[in-house]
Amino acid sequence: MEQQIDFRSDTVTRPSIAMQEFMFKAKVGDDVFGEDPSVNELENLAANMFGMEAGLFCPSGTMTNQIAIKVHTQPGDEVICDKLSHIYQYEGGGIAFNSLCSSKLIEGDRGRITAKQVESAINPDDIHKPISKLVSLENTINRGGGSYYDYADIQLIKEVCLQNNLILHLDGARLFNALVANKETPKQYGAIFDSISICLSKGLGTPLGSVLIGKKEFIKKARRVRKVFGGGMRQVGFMAAAGIYALQNNIERLTTDHLHARQIAEALKTKDFVGEILPVETNIIICEIKGKYTATEFSQKMKEHGILLFAISPTHIRMVLHLDITKEMVETTIQTINKL
Ligand SMILES: *Cc1c(COP(=O)(O)O)cnc(C)c1O
Repeated sequence: MEQQIDFRSDTVTRPSIAMQEFMFKAKVGDDVFGEDPSVNELENLAANMFGMEAGLFCPSGTMTNQIAIKVHTQPGDEVICDKLSHIYQYEGGGIAFNSLCSSKLIEGDRGRITAKQVESAINPDDIHKPISKLVSLENTINRGGGSYYDYADIQLIKEVCLQNNLILHLDGARLFNALVANKETPKQYGAIFDSISICLSKGLGTPLGSVLIGKKEFIKKARRVRKVFGGGMRQVGFMAAAGIYALQNNIERLTTDHLHARQIAEALKTKDFVGEILPVETNIIICEIKGKYTATEFSQKMKEHGILLFAISPTHIRMVLHLDITKEMVETTIQTINKL
């Protein structure tokens, strides 16, 4: 079969030749000893971008989120988040498993919650209730179809957190998609959140890794938890170098993925077997498939043409754009959709 066009996730990207060459040249050392220069450089680079004090390189975004929750909470506390949140839906119940915390789930608008909703989710000072401790937002929102927050709405949530002694964490796995779409800066986010997790292995195209950033004291505790979770790595500077390369080269180009997503959505819109399409705000398309195909049948049809995507339910499919999808691949995909 000819080359496959893979829209299953932005995690399927492979490091470019330029990224690989940069990785090969990395200076490395034992990172558990704090002696890997490339890891130290990546952690500082990420922290500085956001105007925050320190960073911690981890193998996955699940680990950065789970470490943040562990450090910010005590057993019996409660985490407030949207019901679609990755931290609740896709981290194996880690909030309970790792941190012995309960979750207060909010029904947001495609994953976006409001300051009012946060306020009404806070428990009173009552011995029957878990202690509300942490608010976690996601931006962009995976299950929201790549939706993103208005910065002003995050500011309102921050005010509620300050008034009620709540810590504010951001699962920013795809934060850079939100930043380029909104023309916002990392520093705006660094100024508001107590901790931020960013993924390097999604649209930024590295083989692995996420960085957790926050205050020095927080990162010091996070480093200890990372070791306990089994995430202390040794000569991992080769991977950190990929992260440095990605932060320096692969952010601006995310706008291309957003353009491609809109172009494919336009083609889908013309088909009578396509129902509702969630507004395409960034690099993710979630749409309803109806009539002559089920979601699985549509995904099978596309696969016959070398195009991979996920049926995320019997009625919905998801397509994710990323840096290994070229303009030509988008054209082929649109032609294929038009023929179905
Ligand atoms: C991918 C992702 C993560 C982290 O996932 P890992 O696969 O553990 O790196 C966290 N949050 C969101 C919203 C994600 O999409």
